[in-house]
Amino acid sequence: MRDKPAATPDGYCTNKTPVSGTIRQINATATGPKFFHLHGRRYAACPCGRDSVSLTDRDNLRRHKQPQG
Ligand SMILES: [Zn+2]
Repeated sequence: MRDKPAATPDGYCTNKTPVSGTIRQINATATGPKFFHLHGRRYAACPCGRDSVSLTDRDNLRRHKQPQG
């Protein structure tokens, strides 16, 4: 994949900027009580190929590993 962000030697992605337009918030009222523990969590895609990285309060991507291969 082109434009893939750098990764640390142990495979973690160094990018913290979500792909614009991909931020979304889990709404438990839509998914049902089974997923209530996810309520309010926000996710976004990363250019490395991960499409559901959770976000910090500052809209930075949490530390995550890049997809293998
Ligand atoms: Zn990434």
